[in-house]
Amino acid sequence: MVAAVPYWWEAAAPASLPKRTPDRRCDVLIVGAGYTGLSAGLTLARAGRSVQIFDRQRPGEGASTRNGGIASGNLRPSYQQLRRKFGEARALALAAEAKAAREDLAAFIAREKIACDFELTGRFTGAATAADYDRLAREAEHLRKSLGIDAHAVPRNEQASVLGTQFYYGGLLRNDIGGLHPAKFFAGLLAAAQAAGAKVYGETAVRSLVPKAGAFAVETAEGPVEADHVIIATNGYTDGVDPWLRRRLVPVRSRIIATAPLSNNLMSELMPKRVMCAETRKLHYYYRPAPDGTRILFGGRDGSIAGDPAWPTQDLQRALADIFPVLDGVAITHSWWGHVAMNRDMIPRIFSRAGLRYAVGYCGSGVVWARWAGQKAAWQILGDERAQSALDFRPPPAIPLYTGTAWFLPAVYAWLGAQDKWHRRAG
Ligand SMILES: Cc1cc2nc3c(=O)[nH]c(=O)nc-3n(C[C@H](O)[C@H](O)[C@H](O)COP(=O)(O)OP(=O)(O)OC[C@H]3O[C@@H](n4cnc5c(N)ncnc54)[C@H](O)[C@@H]3O)c2cc1C
Repeated sequence: MVAAVPYWWEAAAPASLPKRTPDRRCDVLIVGAGYTGLSAGLTLARAGRSVQIFDRQRPGEGASTRNGGIASGNLRPSYQQLRRKFGEARALALAAEAKAAREDLAAFIAREKIACDFELTGRFTGAATAADYDRLAREAEHLRKSLGIDAHAVPRNEQASVLGTQFYYGGLLRNDIGGLHPAKFFAGLLAAAQAAGAKVYGETAVRSLVPKAGAFAVETAEGPVEADHVIIATNGYTDGVDPWLRRRLVPVRSRIIATAPLSNNLMSELMPKRVMCAETRKLHYYYRPAPDGTRILFGGRDGSIAGDPAWPTQDLQRALADIFPVLDGVAITHSWWGHVAMNRDMIPRIFSRAGLRYAVGYCGSGVVWARWAGQKAAWQILGDERAQSALDFRPPPAIPLYTGTAWFLPAVYAWLGAQDKWHRRAG
């Protein structure tokens, strides 16, 4: 029997909060109680602002307790792509901000004493082709020279010391990336925000936001609230309360499977360094050992767009066995999915529109970015000079013919999958 809930929930499931009537007035109202909303709320409450945070589900039940816990602060476009699109200075500022955000997350966890199994394990990115390996080797050099990041290429004949597979043509090992237990991290963040005085309301949807004399009249499921500022922190779970944003963020299903516990010997053979893993395929997979090192959590896209069918789990099982043939037929204990939020240029951003402040669009890398962007959005409201950010882009452009149903995803997956096959054959 495969559990359809996150493996993480065994240690830290999202909890229902007692229902209460919200205060009629507050300085800042936040829509969404995931990493973004709580990080913003924590920062504002510690600065003495009255803050109310609403989530239509149990707090954390969005992506923040479902993810892989890989603390990468990834940017989807490569450095070269960023440079071509935005120029050298902006590309470097984005890469430097990712580094600062990763370091800030580690410092925050230590400062707040959040027991979330955070460890700077390193991350290996497997090259799907020989050409990808050459590109990764150049990237390692660039990371070392321009940002002082401890990164180096691992050739195929040395790969077994990092990852027990022949699937890749070598890869890139970065020692500035690690992993955490996402649901334990969420629980620590929630406790910190509440202790600071932020009021959190679970299973309480925000239904409408209407500008009113320089403030906002907000209708929630538990009554009206008037707020001077509103932060939208709904990311991949954005609903009809903000149809403008819904046309700009595509919620994409990502799924993770957890294997049954594996023997210590097998884990040491497959993941000798217990690193986080990624790869260069366009339809890429991400995977990692569980924090206690006893099993593998393996994630990738879930091509379904309705219900919870079995075939995306089987697809992941097949992909796992392609990389680790010894795991063909291994028992799976959990399989779950959640929404990541993609936008047209695949860059997280913090922006304002019509008086509303947004921190969204992490493209599957919000463990580092969401907490960071929430904090930045709060600093913007506080007029704090630390608010400055390279993520300060214009709002994401609308996606043509898209109003909330991602009808085009199957075609996109087919196209990317075909490119992966072609590249591997050619490479
Ligand atoms: C399967 C999976 C694997 C992932 N793996 C990784 C990983 O390994 N590393 C990484 O960095 N990132 C990963 N991510 C992405 C990461 O989890 C997210 O980027 C991050 O959690 C976003 O946090 P958030 O607070 O912005 O959004 P969420 O945690 O999604 O919270 C948004 C909340 O808004 C609420 N909401 C929406 N509308 C309303 C409304 N009208 N009223 C009230 N509340 C509302 C929702 O209920 C939801 O709880 C993964 C995501 C998934 C789904």
